[in-house]
Amino acid sequence: MCPFCTHAETKVTDKRDVGRISRRRRECLKCGKRFSTHERIELSEMKVIKKSGEKELFDRSKIIFGIKKACEKRPVDDETIEKMVNMIEQKIRKKGMIVKSNQIGEMISKELKKIDNVSYIRFASVYRDFADISDFRKELRELKK
Ligand SMILES: [Zn+2]
Repeated sequence: MCPFCTHAETKVTDKRDVGRISRRRRECLKCGKRFSTHERIELSEMKVIKKSGEKELFDRSKIIFGIKKACEKRPVDDETIEKMVNMIEQKIRKKGMIVKSNQIGEMISKELKKIDNVSYIRFASVYRDFADISDFRKELRELKK
């Protein structure tokens, strides 16, 4: 996912594997900005079921990007994010290595809520499927309590 405009489609312009880390140079297909990702080469193959029913490999870096975006300029450090993602990975393992994409969104929301309310609402507004704007307002109201 593009860290600048959050567009999902990017193309890999260069790829280099170092140990279990795969460094990829990517270009956003929407805004054209370039960025690097460092993707852990997973020995186990966790899978994600997308809304379309299509399955894809669990992409740790995608999740980290999403969380980082939500935590931008907030007092949440990288270590906290790493821990959060490790925990989510563990949960997916327990579930039997396969998870629905919205379940991942739920897991992240739940964790972020404990850490930082502002990051949580940012994340929720982007990733959770709010049925309509009133759902979003409800979330905001709950936060203000
Ligand atoms: Zn972009």
